[in-house]
Amino acid sequence: MSSPLFPFDNAYARLDGLSVPWQPAAVPAPRWLHLNRGLADELGLDAEALASDDGLAVFAGNRVPEGAQPVAQAYAGHQFGGFSPQLGDGRALLLGEVIDRQGRRRDIAFKGSGRTPFSRGGDGKAAVGPVLREVLISEAMHALGIPTTRALAAVATGETIRRERPLPGAVLTRVAASHIRVGTFQFFAARSDTERVRLLADHAIGRHDPALVGREDRFLAFYEAVVQRQARLVAQWMSVGFIHGVMNTDNMTVSGETIDYGPCAFLEPYDPQTVFSSIDTHGRYAFGNQPGIAQWNLARLAETLLPLFHADEEQALAAATRALEGFAGHFDRHWLNLHRLKLGLRGDAADDEADRALVNSLLQLMHGHRADFTLGFRRLSSVLRGALQDWLALWGDQHAATGDWLARWQQRVDAQGEPAHDVAARMDATNPLFIPRNHLVENALEAATESGDLRAFERLLTIVTDPYTERSDDAPAALPGTPEQTQGYRTFCGT
Ligand code: AMP
Ligand code: MG
Repeated sequence: MSSPLFPFDNAYARLDGLSVPWQPAAVPAPRWLHLNRGLADELGLDAEALASDDGLAVFAGNRVPEGAQPVAQAYAGHQFGGFSPQLGDGRALLLGEVIDRQGRRRDIAFKGSGRTPFSRGGDGKAAVGPVLREVLISEAMHALGIPTTRALAAVATGETIRRERPLPGAVLTRVAASHIRVGTFQFFAARSDTERVRLLADHAIGRHDPALVGREDRFLAFYEAVVQRQARLVAQWMSVGFIHGVMNTDNMTVSGETIDYGPCAFLEPYDPQTVFSSIDTHGRYAFGNQPGIAQWNLARLAETLLPLFHADEEQALAAATRALEGFAGHFDRHWLNLHRLKLGLRGDAADDEADRALVNSLLQLMHGHRADFTLGFRRLSSVLRGALQDWLALWGDQHAATGDWLARWQQRVDAQGEPAHDVAARMDATNPLFIPRNHLVENALEAATESGDLRAFERLLTIVTDPYTERSDDAPAALPGTPEQTQGYRTFCGT
């Protein structure tokens, strides 16, 4: 007998009342879009076996692999500020969990695998474009060192699904530290089911904060840990210009991984008001609003955990408030450290105020002149190498306005007394040259959707998963889109 494709151990499915057993829908004509062999290996899976026809049938949902216990997970969520007490996996299934090579429990889950009891009016399907967008952006985020769910496989189903226009269908296989969301806690809290909130919290603690297991104050300590993880995560987003686009509470994990790549995109010209999502008409999830929204979502998480914090309501609330107020401090510290690294600076507390002002001045200049965020940092290393031109070119005929800032920055770098080339090399290992540029993502998804041509997708995936190394062949992919390519750029949820 051959060994199973996945050595599943399904802890979540064993938890009483948190999910519903369900099966993926069969699809007519599976075809590979992507298999992430590196990730398969990290998970301790046999990539060759997964690449077989058997693997294709599994990733299409046509064959449930041995040991899987597919379930649809229950969750609720605040969507654009309004509460829906029941959302849940309407087009997703948790197949099961595996323990990876480092001993970490990882979820293997489908997206686009058909209707479930949580589907409401939806068809349970996903389209090729949004599935490939999730592969590209989540793998780019991983390469940038940002905690994220990963993409293990993507398979076209051979089905046509109905959206604004008919689109080819696909199934994504996603890997996550867990799929436990703020909204998962909200689902049970909204039903006053404190015992299930406790069951869920203890499970989450076992997975994400094992050092807290068995401690009496573990729930508050867990909450503090989630606050810290989210503060760090959003600071990391801000440091690369990532806009999540739909930071509803059902799209925020307690693991601290970025999840649910729908209308997400990267900033090009720096502007904190930037919004790409077609449904975010009020800019709730604009780039600059992300820290505040994360904190708002964390307040919703605290509300679900209050009965576990303390038997006395007032004391529970006081403890939650203190923990939540810690968010700003954590966020500010991470944000400053990340941006300091971007400028090649070694920080020390005495420099905090001055360095924060230095970073903010650069961001203000970028905002005023619509300079490209990514290259505005990346090309600074060339300035240290004595080649000013490329950086100045980002400012067009306005570059004289940057003179004072450059002088201040150079003085601060010089004061560190390090060889300029060392600082420049460090900056190049921090500031990506390649991000998933919006026009390139669109081109890649369009070719895959319209004619099944995966070449642009594959090329772009290779580029964005090696974001720091300069390569002359890929030089054009580092450049922002032209105004014609980027004006009015809109992204859509995967629905
Ligand atoms: P999302 O926008 O992907 O975060 O999804 C929000 C909610 O809508 C979740 O409960 C999803 O499961 C559900 N949903 C999104 N698209 C579909 C679909 N095509 N069919 C069924 N449910 C969906
Ligand atoms: Mg979601």
